[in-house]
Amino acid sequence: MRFLIAMMKHETNTFSPIPTDLQRFRDWGLHEGEAVIKAYKGTNHPLAAFLDIAEEAGAEIVTPVAAEAMPSGPVHRAAYDYLTGRILDALGKGGFDAAFLDLHGAMAAEGEPDGEGGLLERMRQIAPRLPIAVCFDMHGNMSERIVSNATVINGYKSYPHTDMYVAGMQIGRVLMRALKGESAPAMTWGSLPLLAQTLRMGTADEPMKTMQQMCRDAERDPNILAASVFGGFPMADIAIAGLSAIVVAERDAELAEAACDRLLDAAWARKADFIYQHEPLEKAVAGAKTLTEAPVVLLDHADNVGSGGTSDDMTVIAELLRQGLQDVAVGAVWDPAAVKQMMSAGVGATVTLDLGGKTDMPSVNAKGKPLRLTGRVRRLSDGAWTVRGPMYTGSKVTTGPTAVFETAGISIVVTSLHHEPWDTGIFTSIGIDPLHCRYLLLKSRIHYRAGFAPLAKATITLDGVGVTTSDNSILKFDHVRRPIYPLDEMQSQPRPKG
Ligand SMILES: [Zn+2]
Repeated sequence: MRFLIAMMKHETNTFSPIPTDLQRFRDWGLHEGEAVIKAYKGTNHPLAAFLDIAEEAGAEIVTPVAAEAMPSGPVHRAAYDYLTGRILDALGKGGFDAAFLDLHGAMAAEGEPDGEGGLLERMRQIAPRLPIAVCFDMHGNMSERIVSNATVINGYKSYPHTDMYVAGMQIGRVLMRALKGESAPAMTWGSLPLLAQTLRMGTADEPMKTMQQMCRDAERDPNILAASVFGGFPMADIAIAGLSAIVVAERDAELAEAACDRLLDAAWARKADFIYQHEPLEKAVAGAKTLTEAPVVLLDHADNVGSGGTSDDMTVIAELLRQGLQDVAVGAVWDPAAVKQMMSAGVGATVTLDLGGKTDMPSVNAKGKPLRLTGRVRRLSDGAWTVRGPMYTGSKVTTGPTAVFETAGISIVVTSLHHEPWDTGIFTSIGIDPLHCRYLLLKSRIHYRAGFAPLAKATITLDGVGVTTSDNSILKFDHVRRPIYPLDEMQSQPRPKG
């Protein structure tokens, strides 16, 4: 047998001002050919599961590309064409028995808001009968184009995404059984006009805890091969944005449909719980000051790098300084120019920086506002480390040239590349022990839990400024379907079918 195995991942925040060109993929990871295997074999990714499945089957594999970029604005057309082109060119050479794809599901490119749907549609045009298995991120915005052009689909069931390998293995095995003629999967799906908020999708909390448990319960039926609920990605002003469900059943489309309906009914009934409730920043920080057990995790969730945040908004840091919080470690502020300045000054030097605030954010009516601070260059590093925590385990990552800047009781990790702090390596790789800090301010929303939940004595969400805000009144949606909850009043409406 001969398999095509590829990865193409980007969570596109259409409100983010950060450009997504090919270099941004290279900054996080863009591998081609044999290098794909070297980079991902043995890691906690769906791609690694697909490689293991191929090895087990003794299949010949072609790995044209594995690319991922940190979330940011719409993918430049040239980058999208390049990445999809690698996959389509390989497929065009023919001779494949199946394809296994590790995709995100929320990639929006210039001129192609449904990036994955566009890829799958063109794959089907080239190879109309090719069996295709896809593993998507829980934040994927699913579409008819995606589902009708894939054979079987699965999503992660945990957020933070610690089950990426498991989810890939599950759907890879489903396709393998079909290839051997032992199974005939039937797939169905549905989408809701519901912009569920990322802060309300953590699978340790309701309502997502119940939704994912319902998927696991459905899969206890041996005829349900995969059941997924996708929270979707709400920072995407595109028509397909929304919560959805996909069910794959053995031969029986009606069984799949009934299970899918149960999931969508349950999600619609809980729609209000998918919306985040705000608290004024000043009050939340004052509340943090009263906590005595450490470390306390503070989340600058409106500037969450992992959802397209610029990671350089200083609003929350300014408030912590104003209220005099002490013994704080910040992970991290993106400011390559400040890092350069600190590298020239050297460890131990006292410097005055205009830190952060280098990016304007027109979509939230905010101008970049640096914070002038005087402090000490505490440490410098090349920013490279290997992830040992439960998410992206085994991956080599880098924040580029990185520095620790110390001022007024706050140690700020300043990076040259964007990076969401889901692993304690963001601190330990540059000499900060997060266990011995009183406060850990993270530019994250839910993924921080992978590395930090085991040490956090308390967690407080802080409403700052940024393009991952959960305040819909700031954002201008022009392209989402209407009506859609919570932008439109739909509280008492029965579940719309679709
Ligand atoms: Zn995700």
